[in-house]
Formats: sequence, C-alpha cells, structure tokens
Amino acid sequence: MTIYQNLIAGEWIGSDATKNINPSDTNEVVGLYADGSAEDTKNAIAAAKAAFPAWSRSGIWERHVILKKAGDEIMARKDELGALLAREEGKTLPEAIGETIRASQIFEFFAGEVLRLAGETIPSVRPNIGVEITRDPLGVIGIITPWNFPIAIPAWKIAPALCYGNTIVFKPAELVPACSWAIVDILHRAGLPKGVLNLVMGKGSVVGQAMLDSPDVAGITFTGSTGTGKRVAAASLEHNRKFQLEMGGKNPMVVLDDADLNVAVEAAANSGFFSTGQRCTASSRLIVTEGIHDKFVAALTAKLETLIVDNAMKSGTHIGPVVDEKQLKTDTDYIEIGKKEGAKLAFGGELLKRDTPGFYLQPTLFTEATNQMRISREEIFGPVVSVIRVKDYEEALATANDTPFGLSSGIATTSLKHATHFKRNAEAGMVMVNLPTAGVDFHVPFGGRKGSSYGPREQGSYAAEFYTSVKTSYTLA
Ligand code: ADP
Repeated sequence: MTIYQNLIAGEWIGSDATKNINPSDTNEVVGLYADGSAEDTKNAIAAAKAAFPAWSRSGIWERHVILKKAGDEIMARKDELGALLAREEGKTLPEAIGETIRASQIFEFFAGEVLRLAGETIPSVRPNIGVEITRDPLGVIGIITPWNFPIAIPAWKIAPALCYGNTIVFKPAELVPACSWAIVDILHRAGLPKGVLNLVMGKGSVVGQAMLDSPDVAGITFTGSTGTGKRVAAASLEHNRKFQLEMGGKNPMVVLDDADLNVAVEAAANSGFFSTGQRCTASSRLIVTEGIHDKFVAALTAKLETLIVDNAMKSGTHIGPVVDEKQLKTDTDYIEIGKKEGAKLAFGGELLKRDTPGFYLQPTLFTEATNQMRISREEIFGPVVSVIRVKDYEEALATANDTPFGLSSGIATTSLKHATHFKRNAEAGMVMVNLPTAGVDFHVPFGGRKGSSYGPREQGSYAAEFYTSVKTSYTLA
C-alpha cells in the first residue's frame, strides 16, 4: 500500500506509517499515513521559518491565485473528497460532502479577502506627522486540528494563515489524516513555494508537543480537547507566543412552552445527534419548560425512532458510527454514569450491530436529568443528550448559562421578547434562535467564551485578528 507522506520543505518524506481505519467498517484501511517524528517537526518549523520572509512579502495576486485554485479543486472533487471524509471519520456521505463544499467556500472567501487587505491612514494629534495602521503576518503558525471536521477545520485555519502572509506547520488529528493530506497536496500543486505549508502527520504527544516546545513558532491555533488546550496555553505563555484555542462545549438548547413543536424537535434532533453528536456546537442539554416538556419528549423520542444508524457510506443513513473505540467507551461510560446519577434513559443507550463491523451506538436520550449531574456538566462528545425540566424562561436561561462552557446556545420560542432577551443574555459566543446550535456560516466569526475558547475569533474577516499583528507607524511629513 502507498504511504501518504509528510510534506517538509517542499519534499514528500517519511517511511513510518500508521493505518487510517474506517469506523463504519473496521476491516477497511483507508490508507497508510506517515507517522512523523520530533525531528521531522523541527525540520518543518525550520523550513517554514526560512520560507517566511519571501512569503510574507509575496504579492496578493499570487496568494489569491493559489487560494482560488485550491477552492476550485476542492469543489470539483467534492464527491470524491466527501467519500474519503465519510470513510475516515464516519459522518454520513451527505454531511461529508457538505463539509467538503464548506472547505472549498472557505478557500474562496480568503481568496477574495486577500485582495481586500488594507490599512488605515489617520492624522496624528501632532502637526506634520502621519499615522498608518497596518497588519503584519505573525511568522510561523502551528496548526493543530481535531478529528471531527477533517477538512473544514484545516481549511479554516490554513486559508487565513496563508492569506495574511504566514507560513505553516500543520499537524492533523491522528484519526483523520486523509483529508488533511489531500488539502496539502492540492495547495502544493497549486503553486505554494516550498516550505510555506508543511504537513507533519503523527502523534500529538510527539509532533504536537514538538510544535509547542519550539521558540520559532510564532502562533498556535488549536481545536481539540480542554486538556490539550491547556497544554497549548501553558507552553505558549512560556514562549511568549500568540495562541488561539477552540475546546469543549456543553451547549444548551432551551425549549419554551410557546415553541413551534416541529421546529424545536427538528433543531434538537439535528443539534444533538447528527454527525453522531461529535460537534463542539452539538446540543447536549435540552432545557425544556414544564408546559411543553412531555409533548416535546414524546415527539423527540418518536423522531429518534426514525433515525437510521448505519455505515456512513450507505444511502439513507442518518447517523454514522462513533469515530473510534476510545470515544465509544467514553460515550458508554457516560451512559452508565447517567443511569447511576438517576437520570431516566428515555431512548437508546445500546450498541448496534450492522453488516459491517463498526462503532455503532443508538442515539441516547436521558430525561429527568438535573443540571448538576456529570452528564449535564461534562462534554461527552457523542450522541448522548439530556433533557432538563425547568419551570419557566427565567429558570431556563439561568440553567443554560450555568456551565463552565460557552460556545453555542439555542432557544426555540415564538416569543420575540424571549428570543431578544436570550440573544442578549446567553453567555455564549454564538446564539441560535429556532435553529440547531450546530451549523454555522463560513464568512462570520466563530468562537465561544468561558471554558470553550480563548483568543480572537476564527473565520470571516475576524480571522485577521489572530493571524496578524497590528503595527502603528508614524512618519514626519
Ligand atoms: P481528542 O481527545 O478529541 O482527540 P485532543 O486534544 O487529544 O482531542 O486532540 C486534538 C489535537 O491535539 C490532535 O491533533 C492531537 O494529536 C493534538 N495533541 C494531543 N496531545 C498533544 C500535545 N501534547 N501537544 C500538542 N498537540 C497535541
């Protein structure tokens, strides 16, 4: 089998490899992908550092052409890359194609953004002096990504890093190297000068750690677990480096008595269970007021009955497998914890057997949960959702905000008053009214507050905040 290698200083290298396994069919090896070393990482950082002076001064048209070519190729290959994504991560084929289209759109967005780079010229408060405010690229950016969005998250970090003139060392998650390899291959062929984008696939504790330990990495953008995020933060403070973290969530969706039941059920089913609940914006707490509680639980349970859990590649599958055995164990451990804590298992909770061996788990709904239970406080990252019954809107809002996290927060209501109040008072980076908590646009800011995120927002024009450093220049006229 071919080994998909690492790209370091414009050369494909590496002979040690690990297997990329399909979670829908564990007999299938999606490919062999290089397992990089600390030495590879050091070489990649040195290559990115050497490439920085020229790339940071490259013309905006050169950058535009490369970003545009990448966006166009990803779109042209959406079905093939979507299938690769579904096979390595386990989300359904339509979801995976949708994510691939998203990655293309992100490259197209930054291909446009690079042509709009601008600064400000303003008068000084002192006579005969001019002031300019411009943005400089940071230097070498370390990109560390998780497994749950194998093509979109790499795209939304790589595209702005290149757009603003940075060079990159990119380390994808161990479980999903295939889409990352494909993006890097596309950008390499699109004409990026050698060393501008380096790919080092491998273990977090080896490759990731070598990035954290390097004084030559000027910025790290990280999406992943809270534990690793804290390591990124500590190491980055040590090296005086800029960092940006997207970590966990325990996103609430409030359902009020006056909600449109269909809208609420569709949003809850989508937010809680689609993509196997493996989205940082998934709703894992449904906070439901008394008057609609029983009707809502009955309708949501009826909806869950209709959802097909099966091989991600099969047409008709609504929910693919859990990503791997370790995550499946986490999910089933939390299901046991929920039962022990006294929540009522209203639906699911069982492992499923399908034609192909995979990590299949029923969508799982707990009712009669409290917000103090571990299943309501800790991120599970699987298709496991709890319903918390509350008296009224005020209690719902307080419960929604009573969490260490703050990524996305949703409400289902037909009341303008409550929707408006909720938008103002939800302690989250993103608020959704009558929509799933997951599912965001690519041209507007993405990010959270409290324990979910740290540093500037990602995506859209707001991405400039992380990938550049502001410079104020004064000139005597
Ligand atoms: P998850 O548990 O969801 O896989 P992680 O935070 O472990 O989340 O993984 C997110 C990314 O962080 C992955 O690319 C992983 O390899 C990387 N990573 C894990 N440990 C470290 C580390 N010590 N230093 C840097 N990166 C790491």
